[in-house]
Amino acid sequence: MTIYVYDFSEGSREMAGLLGGKGANLAEMVRMGLPVPPGFTITTDACRVFLATGAPPEELDGQIARHLAALERAAGKRLGQADDPLLLSVRSGARFSMPGMMDTILDIGLNDLAVLGLGKTPERERFAWDSYRRLVQMFGSTVMGVDSTLFEARIGSLERQHEVADDSRLDTVDLIRLVESFKDLIAEETGEEFPQDPAEQLRRAVLAVFSSWNGERARIYRRREHIPDDLGTAVSIQTMVFGNLGPDSGSGVAFTRDPATGRPGVYGDYLPNAQGEDVVAGIRNTVPLQRLADLDPGAYKELRASMDRLEGRYRDMCDIEFTVERGKLWMLQTRVGKRTAQAAFGIAAQLADEGLVSPQEALARVDGDALAHLMFPRFATSGPGVGEVVARGVPASPGAAVGAAVFDSAEAVRRAGSGERVVLVRQETTPDDLPGMIAAQAVLTARGGKTSHAAVVARGMGKVCVCGAEGITVDLARRCFTTADGVRVAEGTIVSVDGTEGVVRRGAAPLAESEVMRYFEAGGRAPGAEDQRIVHDVHRLLTLADSARRLEVRANADTPEDAARARRFGAQGIGLCRTEHMFLGERRPLVEAMILAATDAGRARALAALLPLQREDFTGILEAMDGLPVTVRLLDPPLHEFLPDRSDLAVRIAREEAVGRTPAARDRELLAAVERMHEENPMLGLRGVRLGLVVPGLVAMQVRALAEAVVARKRAGGDPRAEIMVPLVGDARELRLVREEVDAVLADVTAESGIVLDCPVGTMIELPRAALTAGRIAREARFFSFGTNDLTQTTWGFSRDDAEAAFFPAYLDRGVFERSPFETIDREGVGRLVEIAVAEGRASRPDLTIGVCGEHGGDPASVHFFHAAGLDYVSCSPFRVPVARLEAGRAALPPSSADSST
Ligand code: PEP
Ligand code: MG
Repeated sequence: MTIYVYDFSEGSREMAGLLGGKGANLAEMVRMGLPVPPGFTITTDACRVFLATGAPPEELDGQIARHLAALERAAGKRLGQADDPLLLSVRSGARFSMPGMMDTILDIGLNDLAVLGLGKTPERERFAWDSYRRLVQMFGSTVMGVDSTLFEARIGSLERQHEVADDSRLDTVDLIRLVESFKDLIAEETGEEFPQDPAEQLRRAVLAVFSSWNGERARIYRRREHIPDDLGTAVSIQTMVFGNLGPDSGSGVAFTRDPATGRPGVYGDYLPNAQGEDVVAGIRNTVPLQRLADLDPGAYKELRASMDRLEGRYRDMCDIEFTVERGKLWMLQTRVGKRTAQAAFGIAAQLADEGLVSPQEALARVDGDALAHLMFPRFATSGPGVGEVVARGVPASPGAAVGAAVFDSAEAVRRAGSGERVVLVRQETTPDDLPGMIAAQAVLTARGGKTSHAAVVARGMGKVCVCGAEGITVDLARRCFTTADGVRVAEGTIVSVDGTEGVVRRGAAPLAESEVMRYFEAGGRAPGAEDQRIVHDVHRLLTLADSARRLEVRANADTPEDAARARRFGAQGIGLCRTEHMFLGERRPLVEAMILAATDAGRARALAALLPLQREDFTGILEAMDGLPVTVRLLDPPLHEFLPDRSDLAVRIAREEAVGRTPAARDRELLAAVERMHEENPMLGLRGVRLGLVVPGLVAMQVRALAEAVVARKRAGGDPRAEIMVPLVGDARELRLVREEVDAVLADVTAESGIVLDCPVGTMIELPRAALTAGRIAREARFFSFGTNDLTQTTWGFSRDDAEAAFFPAYLDRGVFERSPFETIDREGVGRLVEIAVAEGRASRPDLTIGVCGEHGGDPASVHFFHAAGLDYVSCSPFRVPVARLEAGRAALPPSSADSST
């Protein structure tokens, strides 16, 4: 029999796949003997059965009933018991944390009778009716599908009647009236009564949580976070404890280190006399966690001890939700906490320093996306152009963002869709704001602390966020916010949000370079006392990565400046120098002359004019990369790309003719050439090696320019290491023909200069046929470099210029893939070709050097694939070099270093 339900005492944190992060971590806390309200977890297996068949597994009801009976026995009270009911919370919990994206239902077990039992003493009466009101409202909207704004509207009208600001001011009689009114509303909207049977409440709540896995919010979140759609959620059912029983009760959230900066210490928020949702929703402003030490020293001490134990157990920063019920501490949840990029590096370095984790584990805890984030610029905080401060709040997620203020999610999505940068400004955010948060550059809220929904979600996404800016008042109806001094900031006003300082300024503030970027620009030397903490942390972890990695990291660079930057950033050579970039700008007329040449002699003259220019470029690049390999690729794109646009030319000629003038002869000539060369599918046409084979003299010119540059560098005392790479080869014979031409030129230049030239000739593997015939091609090639941009294009049959805009959004939406295959290597298809080519290439030439120079070379997930596939190097843009270094180091770690907790 499949087990679908586990008591908290039966699980452990290793079981997150089955019990979800929440269920597994609750079980771990029970194992540790921490005070956890008892309960049990329904597995993700059960959810998957439900999602696949539309019904829960048959055994589920019976298993829930058995666990419930045990819970009731232990508590000494039953669900629905009239005089003293057991109440339960029903919460979602997936393998990966998805804060606020799925449903939660609290106070299950209350009904018309049990509410009287719960409120049997006068001081608990209001609390009982408020709990019942919350249940009917949550159940009505979440389980029974009644529009939640209808409930809010009824609360609003009662508040207006009594002229009170919020529902905490409503008295027992009001709450009784509200419960009746909510029950009527449910009956009107659904034709069904609110269920009085607690077992039915429980059953339906569980199914609603299962269904919420496929709710819109959850789907959007998963797509963004690349969480697979087929994992399903677990459901944890737990005895309710109450933080709203009076001043000796309360709820809070705690972090064992600062999730924004990583600094050690006690961070968190506490809200006296409140339920946990009130803290996370950010509706009421919280007090710093340290205040609990004065309010309830006993509970605070116990909490601190539990925090230390949890951090020791998880060997990482933990975040914790807790409740104090009449002076008794209850731990409701823990998990390895979400953190900013800065905190990720800070915490990993500190934990390694403290000996809590090994250096390898520290490296496993950071990633390339976080490093890339740290390389972004920040705002300058002084000097000209720093605008007036319009809000100050909690610096909840660091970084600098500029955009137009907008006041709701839909407007954020609309404006961002037309290319505008926006800042979402809300009183507080709810999970419904998720699309707007994704669309926005930054989020600003008037309420809520570091643990509010806005803060948690923004940090998870790496979005800039300032929250709890109490001085501002957001007026959705007038579409503006007003500052503490009464200054109005209307929708559309450009604001600059500084998530590091917690400050929002009017206008676009000037940006300053990040310290981490400055460190790389200075060559990545060991930092000194004057450098900021984060620079030390990044240096430490990158040094670890460099010593761990097997993959070399090269850069794609076409100019001496880019080559020099790449070298400062740690590149170990150039993996791709695209020579077509040297044919643009002022040199274009020379290329035109070559294309238009009517005779061999004319073409030779045009090529001869290009040669010294190419030689100079190559000399500069070889100098910048002295002693390191520089892979120069022969001309790749179709030649008509170097000519003017066909319709521009046609229009120009037609205009001249229309006014009776004779069009310029050159324009006619150019148009004729463009038409002669026009191809319906230029990406599949006369480009790459094919050009070299049909345009006489082209290969010879490029190779001679490079060979002479090598000679010049050698004469200057340098150590040039040029390699020649042939693009778009599909058959070994193409490569052999070009190689013979290359060898002849190299022999000529050797003879002329007296300097022996050994420039290895290799090829790109960017067509499926090349991958499939790699064994033969390797006989002609000293090295392979995977051109995964073209290889993805040709394997899938996706035009790399069109597909991403045309139908990728639909493909991502419908789950054909979770990431664009142009960003992250498609392991199954393109990756398989890579594996075949590596195996067959090495089989025929064991010393074959193999790298990759498509965009994937700088993508974290792809770097791990290339490591596993046995490549020798990855090559990426200079700015991605540090990311690739870090990920190559992480890819080489033994699997045991990877973090198994959630
Ligand atoms: C590739 O195809 O992956 C590649 C690096 O070449 P290009 O992008 O220049 O076609
Ligand atoms: Mg290519």
